[in-house]
Amino acid sequence: MAIALTEADVRALVSMDELIDVMQEALAAFSAGEVVQPVRHVLEVGARNRFLGVMPAYLAHPPVLGAKLVTVFPDNLARGLPSHLATIVLIDPETGAVAAIMDGRYLTEARTAAVSAVSAKHLAATGPATLAILGSGVQARSHLDALGRVRELADVRVWSPTPANRAKFVEDMAARCPVPIRTVEHPEDAVRGATLIALATAAAEPIVSAGWVAPGAHICAVGACRPDQREMDGDLVARARVFVDSRAGALAEAGDLVIPIREGRIGADHVAGELGEMIAGRVPGRTSADQITLFKSLGMAVEDVAAAALVHRRACEKGLGRGVVF
Ligand code: NDP
Repeated sequence: MAIALTEADVRALVSMDELIDVMQEALAAFSAGEVVQPVRHVLEVGARNRFLGVMPAYLAHPPVLGAKLVTVFPDNLARGLPSHLATIVLIDPETGAVAAIMDGRYLTEARTAAVSAVSAKHLAATGPATLAILGSGVQARSHLDALGRVRELADVRVWSPTPANRAKFVEDMAARCPVPIRTVEHPEDAVRGATLIALATAAAEPIVSAGWVAPGAHICAVGACRPDQREMDGDLVARARVFVDSRAGALAEAGDLVIPIREGRIGADHVAGELGEMIAGRVPGRTSADQITLFKSLGMAVEDVAAAALVHRRACEKGLGRGVVF
């Protein structure tokens, strides 16, 4: 019988540390060609910047099959709802029957930050990090948690455009953050001197300039998931050693790469590799201490179904979830 799992169930069943390990395995499997996964379909829903993403994946070893439906409705925030909502369906790869249907909102929040943490684990300088977070929403929060698990933090600076929202971020996160955390009034004040930078905004135009970023910094750029959106100026992308989750996805969907390529500033070969290739040792990671490394994230279906498979396994072990007959 299939089971249904709520957001509360999902939260109770997996930890960020486990997700970081599972994401590392999923990224490596993807880049080793063990995953069947098309570039996601994105449907525009009306004319108000609303999207529905359809994200299926099949992972051969161990066999996992499923799909995520994710919506991005920015005007949800005014209704007190998250801008990103999602549902994941896991399918038994032997029979094609539904095995589980679960909330995907929290898994999207957590797996995205877990993947960024994998990038930081391999690419960020070691030693205490000054962390700049641009954005104060869902991803900003999960990135503070996840990045703090792979690098010791020295201090944290947070910027987002709405002063009340960045102040609320610090108010909410201070108790959970073992180091000083403060807001700043301009993105430059956050980024200058930072060794680890998380870009987690809904910006459509660049909010970070190359001249602000210190040599040796590592950037996790998770916003700007459409080909006409970007968070970084072209100079910064051109200066950095660039990694992506999926080359095919990045070259189709990431405005931070697509736009400078179209402008002739960089070629597609500016992408040094996929994170999975770097994890497997097929592509070198950081090649000098002064290099700026950049992970441009778009999110992949295999991350969602691998995370959901872990949740499902745990739910079965613990007898959690409501049985559903379709
Ligand atoms: P939220 O809606 O929770 O937060 C959005 C944040 O963006 C807020 O902090 C907001 O600041 C800020 N923001 C809005 N407009 C602008 C602007 N024009 N310039 C700068 N900042 C702006 O979204 P999430 O945290 O869930 O997602 C953040 C980004 O990450 C989105 O682009 C989302 O699509 C992307 N994402 C990427 C994933 C991936 O796998 N790569 C997965 C999930 C999300 P304020 O509140 O101060 O106005």
